[in-house]
Amino acid sequence: MEIVVLRLGHRLERDKRITTHVGLVGRALGASGMLLASDDKGIERSIKEVTKWWGGDFFVQTGVKWREELKKWKQEGGKVCHLTMYGENILDVIDEIREEAKKEKARIMVVVGAEKVPYDIFDAADWNIAVGNQPHSEIAALALFLDYLQQGEELKTKFEHAEIEIVPKRKGKEVKIRE
Ligand code: SAM
Repeated sequence: MEIVVLRLGHRLERDKRITTHVGLVGRALGASGMLLASDDKGIERSIKEVTKWWGGDFFVQTGVKWREELKKWKQEGGKVCHLTMYGENILDVIDEIREEAKKEKARIMVVVGAEKVPYDIFDAADWNIAVGNQPHSEIAALALFLDYLQQGEELKTKFEHAEIEIVPKRKGKEVKIRE
């Protein structure tokens, strides 16, 4: 299964940290990349830097035209999950989405917003999903969605070509640095 995050409504300066965290959570929890509907090269650089050290091949593409990306994604058979507090409760739809995810070459786009999300997204989405119907955060919503979708398996992912790797310990800190 391929999972790509589409981040909408990123405001330069104000959302830098949040969008970076959306990307980092996506990377750490099983997505293969993030499309950013804003031309913020700083975000791209900082996530690439993390990937360079910590491995994997997470991509970040900035300045995307989200309408075109969504259309292309759907034409190619991909499914769209929009995370919104107005949607159906994740517990009521996750089995259906997991069934979809089991199909050969399944592709899931996860859309998260910042400010008000355009109505077209609600229409284009195959699922509008609420991680509870209370307002909270795109970072938390994304993390929980990815975890529910993959049932925790993403937490054991091994990241290829890492320069640094943590040796898990009950106490203290140990890292391996590649020579
Ligand atoms: N007022 C905005 C709206 O009309 O959608 C929500 C802003 S919220 C700070 C930013 C993003 O966090 C949303 O676009 C959504 O992706 C995510 N989000 C916040 N609460 C959520 C929830 N309960 N379930 C799913 N996603 C949520």
